[in-house]
Amino acid sequence: MFEEYDDFRKKVKEFALENFTDDNIRKYDKDEIYPEELRKKGINSAIDMTNPIKIVIGIEELCRVDAGLGISVTTPYFGNEVINLFGNDAQKKILSDVMSGKKILGLGVTEPSGGSDVAGIKTTAVKSGNKYIINGSKIFITNGSIADYILVLARTSNESKRHLGLSVFLVDTKSKGFSASKLHGKLGVRATDTAELKFNNLEVDESMLVGEEGMGFYYIMIFFDISRVYVAAQALGIAEGAFDAMMKYVKSNNIKDENTMFEIAKLYTRIQAAKLLTYNATMNLVNSVTKPEDTSAAKAYAGETAVYAAEKALEVTGLSGYKYNLDIVFRNAKIMEIWEGTTDVENLIIARTLLKGD
Ligand SMILES: Cc1cc2nc3c(=O)[nH]c(=O)nc-3n(C[C@H](O)[C@H](O)[C@H](O)COP(=O)(O)OP(=O)(O)OC[C@H]3O[C@@H](n4cnc5c(N)ncnc54)[C@H](O)[C@@H]3O)c2cc1C
Repeated sequence: MFEEYDDFRKKVKEFALENFTDDNIRKYDKDEIYPEELRKKGINSAIDMTNPIKIVIGIEELCRVDAGLGISVTTPYFGNEVINLFGNDAQKKILSDVMSGKKILGLGVTEPSGGSDVAGIKTTAVKSGNKYIINGSKIFITNGSIADYILVLARTSNESKRHLGLSVFLVDTKSKGFSASKLHGKLGVRATDTAELKFNNLEVDESMLVGEEGMGFYYIMIFFDISRVYVAAQALGIAEGAFDAMMKYVKSNNIKDENTMFEIAKLYTRIQAAKLLTYNATMNLVNSVTKPEDTSAAKAYAGETAVYAAEKALEVTGLSGYKYNLDIVFRNAKIMEIWEGTTDVENLIIARTLLKGD
Protein backbone atom coordinates (compact mmCIF):
# COMPACT_ATOMS: atom_id res chain seq x y z
CA MET A 1 0.00 0.00 0.00
CA PHE A 2 0.95 3.65 -0.37
CA GLU A 3 3.38 2.80 -3.23
CA GLU A 4 2.73 6.25 -4.71
CA TYR A 5 4.67 7.60 -1.71
CA ASP A 6 7.75 5.42 -2.33
CA ASP A 7 9.94 8.41 -3.19
CA PHE A 8 9.00 10.11 0.05
CA ARG A 9 9.59 6.88 1.99
CA LYS A 10 13.03 6.59 0.40
CA LYS A 11 13.89 10.17 1.37
CA VAL A 12 12.89 9.59 5.01
CA LYS A 13 14.83 6.31 5.11
CA GLU A 14 17.93 8.03 3.81
CA PHE A 15 17.58 10.79 6.40
CA ALA A 16 17.22 8.24 9.20
CA LEU A 17 20.15 6.10 8.09
CA GLU A 18 22.38 9.12 7.65
CA ASN A 19 21.50 10.83 10.93
CA PHE A 20 20.38 8.10 13.34
CA THR A 21 23.82 6.54 13.40
CA ASP A 22 24.70 3.92 16.01
CA ASP A 23 26.74 6.58 17.83
CA ASN A 24 23.80 8.99 17.90
CA ILE A 25 21.32 6.29 18.93
CA ARG A 26 23.55 5.25 21.87
CA LYS A 27 24.52 8.83 22.83
CA TYR A 28 21.01 10.27 23.03
CA ASP A 29 19.69 7.16 24.78
CA LYS A 30 22.49 7.21 27.37
CA ASP A 31 22.57 10.97 27.98
CA GLU A 32 18.79 11.45 27.70
CA ILE A 33 19.25 14.69 25.77
CA TYR A 34 16.59 15.96 23.39
CA PRO A 35 18.08 15.91 19.82
CA GLU A 36 17.28 19.51 18.87
CA GLU A 37 19.77 19.58 16.00
CA LEU A 38 18.28 16.45 14.46
CA ARG A 39 14.77 17.90 14.85
CA LYS A 40 15.83 21.02 12.90
CA LYS A 41 17.58 18.94 10.25
CA GLY A 42 14.53 16.69 9.87
CA ILE A 43 12.13 19.58 9.21
CA ASN A 44 13.34 20.00 5.63
CA SER A 45 14.02 16.40 4.74
CA ALA A 46 12.02 13.88 6.76
CA ILE A 47 8.98 15.62 8.18
CA ASP A 48 5.93 16.32 6.08
CA MET A 49 2.79 17.06 8.05
CA THR A 50 0.64 17.81 5.01
CA ASN A 51 -1.30 14.56 4.96
CA PRO A 52 -1.83 11.53 7.23
CA ILE A 53 -0.15 9.11 4.82
CA LYS A 54 3.08 11.14 4.79
CA ILE A 55 2.93 11.53 8.58
CA VAL A 56 2.52 7.77 9.03
CA ILE A 57 5.26 6.86 6.55
CA GLY A 58 7.61 9.42 8.11
CA ILE A 59 7.03 8.11 11.64
CA GLU A 60 7.27 4.48 10.53
CA GLU A 61 10.57 4.84 8.69
CA LEU A 62 12.20 7.01 11.36
CA CYS A 63 11.16 4.66 14.19
CA ARG A 64 12.33 1.70 12.12
CA VAL A 65 15.89 3.01 12.55
CA ASP A 66 15.43 4.34 16.10
CA ALA A 67 12.25 5.18 17.99
CA GLY A 68 13.90 7.45 20.59
CA LEU A 69 15.18 9.78 17.88
CA GLY A 70 12.29 9.14 15.48
CA ILE A 71 9.66 10.11 18.03
CA SER A 72 11.73 13.09 19.19
CA VAL A 73 11.76 14.65 15.74
CA THR A 74 8.09 13.93 15.00
CA THR A 75 6.39 14.93 18.29
CA PRO A 76 7.03 18.71 18.36
CA TYR A 77 3.62 18.94 16.62
CA PHE A 78 1.88 16.83 19.26
CA GLY A 79 -1.65 18.16 19.81
CA ASN A 80 -1.79 20.29 16.65
CA GLU A 81 -5.03 18.62 15.55
CA VAL A 82 -6.85 19.97 18.63
CA ILE A 83 -6.11 23.55 17.58
CA ASN A 84 -6.66 22.83 13.92
CA LEU A 85 -10.12 21.37 14.58
CA PHE A 86 -11.36 23.53 17.45
CA GLY A 87 -9.03 26.54 17.86
CA ASN A 88 -9.69 30.22 17.12
CA ASP A 89 -7.70 32.50 14.80
CA ALA A 90 -5.22 33.60 17.48
CA GLN A 91 -4.52 29.98 18.37
CA LYS A 92 -4.17 29.02 14.71
CA LYS A 93 -1.59 31.80 14.30
CA ILE A 94 0.45 30.13 17.04
CA LEU A 95 -0.17 26.78 15.37
CA SER A 96 1.37 28.03 12.12
CA ASP A 97 4.66 28.61 13.99
CA VAL A 98 4.42 25.05 15.36
CA MET A 99 3.79 23.53 11.94
CA SER A 100 6.69 25.44 10.40
CA GLY A 101 8.98 24.12 13.14
CA LYS A 102 9.61 27.49 14.81
CA LYS A 103 7.77 26.49 18.00
CA ILE A 104 7.23 23.25 19.90
CA LEU A 105 3.86 22.07 21.18
CA GLY A 106 2.88 19.55 23.86
CA LEU A 107 -0.38 18.24 25.31
CA GLY A 108 -1.00 17.56 28.99
CA VAL A 109 -3.75 15.22 30.07
CA THR A 110 -2.12 12.69 32.43
CA GLU A 111 -1.89 13.59 36.12
CA PRO A 112 -0.15 11.91 39.06
CA SER A 113 -3.48 10.27 39.91
CA GLY A 114 -3.55 8.45 36.53
CA GLY A 115 -3.77 8.71 32.76
CA SER A 116 -6.45 6.26 31.65
CA ASP A 117 -9.21 7.95 33.63
CA VAL A 118 -9.20 11.21 31.65
CA ALA A 119 -12.45 12.42 33.25
CA GLY A 120 -10.82 12.06 36.69
CA ILE A 121 -8.25 14.85 36.22
CA LYS A 122 -7.87 17.28 39.12
CA THR A 123 -6.23 20.34 37.53
CA THR A 124 -8.66 23.27 37.71
CA ALA A 125 -9.19 26.43 35.67
CA VAL A 126 -11.33 29.04 37.40
CA LYS A 127 -12.75 31.99 35.47
CA SER A 128 -11.77 35.42 36.85
CA GLY A 129 -12.79 38.40 34.68
CA ASN A 130 -11.39 37.80 31.23
CA LYS A 131 -8.86 35.24 32.47
CA TYR A 132 -8.77 31.69 33.79
CA ILE A 133 -6.56 30.78 36.76
CA ILE A 134 -5.03 27.31 36.41
CA ASN A 135 -3.83 25.23 39.37
CA GLY A 136 -2.66 21.62 39.40
CA SER A 137 -0.07 19.34 37.87
CA LYS A 138 0.55 16.98 34.97
CA ILE A 139 2.97 14.08 34.75
CA PHE A 140 4.85 12.27 31.92
CA ILE A 141 4.24 15.10 29.46
CA THR A 142 6.14 14.71 26.19
CA ASN A 143 8.04 17.90 25.22
CA GLY A 144 7.15 19.20 28.71
CA SER A 145 10.45 20.99 29.35
CA ILE A 146 11.15 22.08 25.75
CA ALA A 147 7.69 23.14 24.56
CA ASP A 148 6.79 26.76 23.83
CA TYR A 149 3.10 25.95 24.28
CA ILE A 150 1.19 23.19 26.04
CA LEU A 151 -2.44 22.29 25.56
CA VAL A 152 -3.72 21.72 29.08
CA LEU A 153 -6.88 19.83 29.99
CA ALA A 154 -8.42 21.28 33.14
CA ARG A 155 -11.70 21.16 35.03
CA THR A 156 -13.73 24.35 34.61
CA SER A 157 -16.91 23.18 36.37
CA ASN A 158 -18.25 20.30 38.44
CA GLU A 159 -21.07 18.52 36.69
CA SER A 160 -23.07 15.43 37.60
CA LYS A 161 -21.32 13.58 34.75
CA ARG A 162 -17.55 13.78 35.25
CA HIS A 163 -16.64 14.02 31.57
CA LEU A 164 -18.60 17.24 31.31
CA GLY A 165 -16.98 20.38 32.70
CA LEU A 166 -13.48 19.83 31.26
CA SER A 167 -11.84 22.39 28.98
CA VAL A 168 -8.64 22.74 26.96
CA PHE A 169 -6.34 25.77 27.22
CA LEU A 170 -3.38 26.77 25.08
CA VAL A 171 -0.78 27.73 27.67
CA ASP A 172 2.39 29.70 26.91
CA THR A 173 5.17 28.00 28.88
CA LYS A 174 6.74 31.40 29.55
CA SER A 175 3.69 32.30 31.69
CA LYS A 176 4.20 33.10 35.38
CA GLY A 177 3.14 30.12 37.48
CA PHE A 178 4.31 27.49 34.97
CA SER A 179 7.14 25.14 35.85
CA ALA A 180 8.46 21.97 34.22
CA SER A 181 10.87 19.39 35.65
CA LYS A 182 12.41 17.02 33.13
CA LEU A 183 12.08 13.36 34.11
CA HIS A 184 15.17 11.15 33.88
CA GLY A 185 15.70 7.40 33.94
CA LYS A 186 12.82 6.35 31.68
CA LEU A 187 12.82 2.73 30.50
CA GLY A 188 12.86 3.70 26.81
CA VAL A 189 12.48 6.52 24.27
CA ARG A 190 15.06 8.31 26.36
CA ALA A 191 15.91 10.89 23.72
CA THR A 192 12.35 12.22 23.97
CA ASP A 193 11.70 14.96 26.48
CA THR A 194 9.27 14.03 29.26
CA ALA A 195 8.43 16.31 32.16
CA GLU A 196 6.28 16.92 35.18
CA LEU A 197 4.38 20.21 34.89
CA LYS A 198 3.08 22.43 37.67
CA PHE A 199 0.56 25.25 37.36
CA ASN A 200 0.56 27.63 40.27
CA ASN A 201 -2.10 30.31 39.86
CA LEU A 202 -1.17 30.47 36.18
CA GLU A 203 -3.24 33.12 34.42
CA VAL A 204 -4.36 32.43 30.87
CA ASP A 205 -6.38 34.85 28.78
CA GLU A 206 -9.88 33.64 27.90
CA SER A 207 -8.89 33.88 24.23
CA MET A 208 -6.67 30.83 24.86
CA LEU A 209 -9.64 28.61 25.76
CA VAL A 210 -9.77 26.14 22.87
CA GLY A 211 -13.27 25.77 21.44
CA GLU A 212 -16.12 25.77 23.92
CA GLU A 213 -15.86 25.61 27.68
CA GLY A 214 -16.90 22.16 28.95
CA MET A 215 -16.12 20.36 25.69
CA GLY A 216 -12.52 19.44 26.50
CA PHE A 217 -13.11 15.74 27.17
CA TYR A 218 -14.68 15.31 23.74
CA TYR A 219 -11.93 17.26 21.99
CA ILE A 220 -9.28 15.07 23.62
CA MET A 221 -11.11 11.86 22.64
CA ILE A 222 -11.37 13.09 19.03
CA PHE A 223 -7.67 13.96 19.14
CA PHE A 224 -6.69 10.53 20.50
CA ASP A 225 -8.64 8.92 17.70
CA ILE A 226 -6.21 10.64 15.32
CA SER A 227 -2.98 10.47 17.31
CA ARG A 228 -3.34 6.76 18.06
CA VAL A 229 -2.88 6.08 14.37
CA TYR A 230 0.51 7.79 14.65
CA VAL A 231 1.38 5.68 17.70
CA ALA A 232 0.47 2.59 15.66
CA ALA A 233 2.96 3.87 13.04
CA GLN A 234 5.65 4.27 15.74
CA ALA A 235 5.00 0.69 16.87
CA LEU A 236 4.99 -0.63 13.31
CA GLY A 237 8.35 1.03 12.69
CA ILE A 238 9.83 -0.49 15.86
CA ALA A 239 8.60 -3.96 14.87
CA GLU A 240 10.00 -3.62 11.34
CA GLY A 241 13.34 -2.39 12.70
CA ALA A 242 13.56 -5.42 15.01
CA PHE A 243 12.70 -7.70 12.08
CA ASP A 244 15.35 -6.03 9.87
CA ALA A 245 17.98 -6.70 12.55
CA MET A 246 16.87 -10.30 13.00
CA MET A 247 17.02 -10.95 9.24
CA LYS A 248 20.47 -9.37 8.92
CA TYR A 249 21.76 -11.59 11.72
CA VAL A 250 20.15 -14.77 10.35
CA LYS A 251 21.42 -14.15 6.81
CA SER A 252 24.94 -13.16 7.81
CA ASN A 253 25.28 -16.23 10.04
CA ASN A 254 23.57 -18.54 7.55
CA ILE A 255 21.16 -19.80 10.22
CA LYS A 256 18.63 -22.31 8.92
CA ASP A 257 17.26 -24.18 11.93
CA GLU A 258 13.53 -24.81 12.01
CA ASN A 259 12.86 -22.78 15.14
CA THR A 260 14.39 -19.65 13.58
CA MET A 261 12.44 -20.22 10.35
CA PHE A 262 9.21 -20.31 12.40
CA GLU A 263 10.12 -17.14 14.26
CA ILE A 264 10.79 -15.34 10.98
CA ALA A 265 7.46 -16.50 9.52
CA LYS A 266 5.42 -15.62 12.62
CA LEU A 267 6.97 -12.20 13.01
CA TYR A 268 6.62 -11.38 9.31
CA THR A 269 2.93 -12.31 9.47
CA ARG A 270 2.30 -10.23 12.57
CA ILE A 271 4.04 -7.22 11.07
CA GLN A 272 2.00 -7.49 7.88
CA ALA A 273 -1.20 -7.60 9.97
CA ALA A 274 -0.06 -4.58 12.04
CA LYS A 275 0.76 -2.72 8.83
CA LEU A 276 -2.64 -3.41 7.26
CA LEU A 277 -4.44 -2.29 10.42
CA THR A 278 -2.30 0.86 10.66
CA TYR A 279 -2.70 1.79 7.00
CA ASN A 280 -6.43 1.08 7.17
CA ALA A 281 -6.75 3.46 10.14
CA THR A 282 -4.65 5.98 8.19
CA MET A 283 -7.10 5.80 5.28
CA ASN A 284 -9.94 6.54 7.73
CA LEU A 285 -8.10 9.77 8.58
CA VAL A 286 -7.60 10.59 4.91
CA ASN A 287 -11.30 10.00 4.22
CA SER A 288 -12.46 11.73 7.45
CA VAL A 289 -14.14 8.50 8.57
CA THR A 290 -14.50 8.16 12.35
CA LYS A 291 -14.02 4.55 13.39
CA PRO A 292 -12.47 4.36 16.87
CA GLU A 293 -12.62 0.57 16.69
CA ASP A 294 -10.22 0.64 13.71
CA THR A 295 -7.90 3.16 15.36
CA SER A 296 -7.77 1.29 18.65
CA ALA A 297 -7.34 -2.08 16.91
CA ALA A 298 -4.36 -0.68 14.99
CA LYS A 299 -2.82 0.93 18.05
CA ALA A 300 -3.32 -2.10 20.32
CA TYR A 301 -2.16 -4.69 17.79
CA ALA A 302 0.81 -2.71 16.49
CA GLY A 303 1.82 -1.90 20.09
CA GLU A 304 1.81 -5.56 21.07
CA THR A 305 3.63 -6.45 17.85
CA ALA A 306 6.42 -3.98 18.64
CA VAL A 307 6.97 -5.63 22.03
CA TYR A 308 6.74 -9.15 20.54
CA ALA A 309 9.15 -8.28 17.70
CA ALA A 310 11.72 -6.72 20.01
CA GLU A 311 11.63 -9.76 22.28
CA LYS A 312 11.87 -12.31 19.45
CA ALA A 313 14.64 -10.40 17.66
CA LEU A 314 16.67 -10.33 20.89
CA GLU A 315 16.06 -14.03 21.47
CA VAL A 316 17.18 -14.99 17.96
CA THR A 317 20.24 -12.73 17.90
CA GLY A 318 21.30 -13.41 21.47
CA LEU A 319 24.32 -11.41 22.57
CA SER A 320 24.79 -10.09 19.03
CA GLY A 321 21.54 -8.14 19.53
CA TYR A 322 23.61 -5.35 21.08
CA LYS A 323 25.35 -4.89 17.74
CA TYR A 324 21.96 -4.04 16.23
CA ASN A 325 20.89 -1.84 19.19
CA LEU A 326 18.22 -4.40 20.04
CA ASP A 327 18.68 -3.73 23.75
CA ILE A 328 17.48 -0.17 23.09
CA VAL A 329 14.72 -1.37 20.74
CA PHE A 330 13.53 -3.72 23.48
CA ARG A 331 13.28 -0.85 25.99
CA ASN A 332 11.72 1.51 23.43
CA ALA A 333 8.96 -0.93 22.48
CA LYS A 334 7.12 -1.09 25.81
CA ILE A 335 5.73 2.44 25.74
CA MET A 336 3.77 1.48 22.60
CA GLU A 337 1.43 -0.53 24.83
CA ILE A 338 1.00 2.36 27.27
CA TRP A 339 0.85 5.91 25.96
CA GLU A 340 -2.26 7.43 24.44
CA GLY A 341 -4.26 4.53 25.83
CA THR A 342 -3.00 1.27 27.28
CA THR A 343 -3.87 -1.93 25.42
CA ASP A 344 -6.62 -2.55 28.02
CA VAL A 345 -8.09 0.87 27.27
CA GLU A 346 -7.89 0.31 23.50
CA ASN A 347 -9.66 -3.04 23.89
CA LEU A 348 -12.40 -1.40 25.96
CA ILE A 349 -12.87 1.22 23.22
CA ILE A 350 -13.14 -1.48 20.53
CA ALA A 351 -15.70 -3.52 22.46
CA ARG A 352 -17.77 -0.54 23.63
CA THR A 353 -17.85 1.01 20.15
CA LEU A 354 -18.97 -2.26 18.57
CA LEU A 355 -21.66 -2.79 21.21
CA LYS A 356 -22.96 0.75 20.70
CA GLY A 357 -23.93 0.00 17.09
CA ASP A 358 -27.55 -0.39 16.00
C1 LIG B 1 7.33 8.48 28.17
C2 LIG B 1 5.89 8.88 28.38
C3 LIG B 1 5.38 9.98 27.68
C4 LIG B 1 4.05 10.36 27.87
N1 LIG B 1 3.57 11.48 27.23
C5 LIG B 1 2.34 11.96 27.57
C6 LIG B 1 1.88 13.22 27.06
O1 LIG B 1 2.56 13.90 26.25
N2 LIG B 1 0.69 13.68 27.48
C7 LIG B 1 -0.08 13.01 28.36
O2 LIG B 1 -1.15 13.50 28.72
N3 LIG B 1 0.31 11.81 28.86
C8 LIG B 1 1.51 11.28 28.49
N4 LIG B 1 1.94 10.08 29.01
C9 LIG B 1 1.09 9.35 29.92
C10 LIG B 1 0.45 8.13 29.29
O3 LIG B 1 -0.50 8.52 28.34
C11 LIG B 1 -0.15 7.31 30.45
O4 LIG B 1 0.94 6.65 31.09
C12 LIG B 1 -1.17 6.29 29.98
O5 LIG B 1 -2.32 6.94 29.53
C13 LIG B 1 -1.56 5.33 31.11
O6 LIG B 1 -1.86 6.03 32.27
P1 LIG B 1 -1.16 5.62 33.66
O7 LIG B 1 0.29 5.40 33.39
O8 LIG B 1 -1.51 6.64 34.66
O9 LIG B 1 -1.78 4.23 34.04
P2 LIG B 1 -3.19 3.97 34.72
O10 LIG B 1 -4.24 4.75 34.03
O11 LIG B 1 -3.03 4.18 36.17
O12 LIG B 1 -3.39 2.45 34.40
C14 LIG B 1 -2.68 1.42 35.12
C15 LIG B 1 -3.15 0.07 34.63
O13 LIG B 1 -4.56 -0.07 34.85
C16 LIG B 1 -5.23 -0.39 33.63
N5 LIG B 1 -6.53 0.30 33.58
C17 LIG B 1 -6.76 1.60 33.88
N6 LIG B 1 -8.08 1.86 33.72
C18 LIG B 1 -8.66 0.75 33.29
C19 LIG B 1 -10.00 0.39 32.94
N7 LIG B 1 -10.99 1.28 32.99
N8 LIG B 1 -10.25 -0.89 32.56
C20 LIG B 1 -9.25 -1.81 32.49
N9 LIG B 1 -7.96 -1.53 32.81
C21 LIG B 1 -7.67 -0.28 33.20
C22 LIG B 1 -4.32 0.10 32.52
O14 LIG B 1 -4.50 -0.63 31.33
C23 LIG B 1 -2.94 -0.13 33.12
O15 LIG B 1 -2.56 -1.47 32.90
C24 LIG B 1 3.24 9.63 28.77
C25 LIG B 1 3.76 8.52 29.45
C26 LIG B 1 5.06 8.14 29.27
C27 LIG B 1 5.60 6.97 30.04
